[in-house]
Amino acid sequence: MTEFGFIDSIRRLFAELPDNGFEGIGDDCAVLPLGDGTSLLFTADLLTEGVHFLRAATSARELGRKSLAVNLSDIAAMGARPVATLLSLALPADAEDAWTAEFTEGYRELSARYGAALVGGDTTRSAGGITINVTAIGRAPDAHVKRRDAAREGDVVFVAGELGASGAGLRDILAGRYDTPLAAVHRNPEPQVGEGAWLGARSEVHAMMDLSDGLASDLGHILDRSSAGAEVELSLIPVAPGSDLRTAACGGEDYKLLLTADPSAADRLAADYLARFGSPLYPLGRITARPGLVWLRDGRPEPLDWHGFEHF
Ligand code: ADP
Ligand code: MG
Repeated sequence: MTEFGFIDSIRRLFAELPDNGFEGIGDDCAVLPLGDGTSLLFTADLLTEGVHFLRAATSARELGRKSLAVNLSDIAAMGARPVATLLSLALPADAEDAWTAEFTEGYRELSARYGAALVGGDTTRSAGGITINVTAIGRAPDAHVKRRDAAREGDVVFVAGELGASGAGLRDILAGRYDTPLAAVHRNPEPQVGEGAWLGARSEVHAMMDLSDGLASDLGHILDRSSAGAEVELSLIPVAPGSDLRTAACGGEDYKLLLTADPSAADRLAADYLARFGSPLYPLGRITARPGLVWLRDGRPEPLDWHGFEHF
């Protein structure tokens, strides 16, 4: 079974149980409206040695930062600000005290940068490799919470940064080249924390998520949940220096925000974003009524069998 097939089966199996006021499985975070005009948001991500990282290819400090960064990215993806995290670690006997201390330093660095408290977790021995689980909690005004299901026909699709650097860096790492600039990008994702909260406050932003599995796959989630389609112009995809178009469209772990916006306010949104953050929102195409993702080259449909990557 694929990762997404498994998640779907869990969703169905638990659908009959009480939701206790939560919006549950299916978005970047679970949302709990508190009844005071604000919501709490919850997300969890797991990193396991040998699947998500190689101990020899990353420093413990980088891993500490990354394990938090990928969770903060999910909070930002819904327009919220992080408030707290829980950190659980399974450590084998050969993970030395120095490794753990460095990991904690990296985790603390990013916690301090974004004002997220560490409020709990669990620590245990592992009979296999290192496993890291982070749960992040965010908060936002109810009206700022952006979901994957809110894309509307005619919306402009934007991405909030260049794509493909992380995927190209992963290729370097898997080829044993750990010290390239792209490999460093792969190990050091920057969550768009301020950007996400700012975009959350803009009512012309309809759907939003973060790109962890690649544009081809993740835009598909917005389209599925919004019962819509999209046309994406290949020449508009911002390819990071050193990467290539296919990696930008299908590679994972860029952690840039993907959003759709009201076409009548899209230019203004992009101009304000540029003025605020000094980097562009890149328009990629449009949301269509007809389901499915269509790649265009110079305005003409191009049949491409491109999918994102699944990291289970
Ligand atoms: P993201 O890439 O944003 O972290 P995922 O693709 O990992 O999201 O997960 C998609 C959705 O499925 C999310 O809402 C997530 O909370 C949920 N999910 C993933 N794994 C599980 C699981 N084992 N049990 C319940 N929900 C899960
Ligand atoms: Mg996400």
